[in-house]
Amino acid sequence: MDEVIGLSSSETSRVETRNCPLCEGQRARGLSYQRDEWRIVQCERCSFVYMPEIPVLDEVGTTFEWSQSFAAETARRRKASPLLSRIDQWTRIRTRMFGRRTPINDVKRFIARGRVLDLGCGNGSYLASAGQGFELYGIDISPALTREADRLFRAHGGYAVCAPCTKGLELFEPNFFDAAILRSYLEHEPDPRGVLTNLFSALRPNGVAVIKVPNYVSWNRYLRGPKWCGFRFPDHVNYFTPATLRQMAEDIGYRVIIRWQDRLPTDDNVWAVLQRPA
Ligand SMILES: [Zn+2]
Repeated sequence: MDEVIGLSSSETSRVETRNCPLCEGQRARGLSYQRDEWRIVQCERCSFVYMPEIPVLDEVGTTFEWSQSFAAETARRRKASPLLSRIDQWTRIRTRMFGRRTPINDVKRFIARGRVLDLGCGNGSYLASAGQGFELYGIDISPALTREADRLFRAHGGYAVCAPCTKGLELFEPNFFDAAILRSYLEHEPDPRGVLTNLFSALRPNGVAVIKVPNYVSWNRYLRGPKWCGFRFPDHVNYFTPATLRQMAEDIGYRVIIRWQDRLPTDDNVWAVLQRPA
């Protein structure tokens, strides 16, 4: 591979402008994190951090695929900062060796069987590792990945839908799911509030959604600045903190569980469980 560059607007079909995804506010101040034309701003009303201009898909999944853009970003990062990139890799190896927290294990804290939905399910291999007792469902915007996921999930009594998650969730009956997984997904979603709102209806009372997103107030972000692994242009369009994640979910009506170990500043991610009250 000779030269790998990040995706830019010339490779995307359209750019859409949006208000604050948390409070719909229109006034925001620019932050110093920016690559090419992709800006990151902070809402003046609610302090939510987000990209106001985002790439939009013309045809579902055809222009952008996270997996593809993730590979480009990894290569770019390695080139830009070989040492830090090695440290990142080492962290990943270490967590693999000594065990790691997984969203599926978090789901199992609440339910032992039932219907589980993976939002942004990719090729389905992650959810398919959930083990026995679960009926598996997924939604993804990539047609190719959804096809693979569908094949895996049908062997577990469910299926996968190719759609943006807001629309995909409307295809299911209300109160259908026992649990949902949003694993490194919500930071990509142009309409996170819309997704969490539709998910609220799709979950049964007492149903849970397990969320893992990059934590904008992690120490690594302060330490590494623009080189923080949570920044991915233009894939990551929302930058949650434990407080803004809680705010968005509580506004919709969820009971929010974020324990101290879910929001460690030494962790690049924040974890949360959203429960639909009975
Ligand atoms: Zn706001």
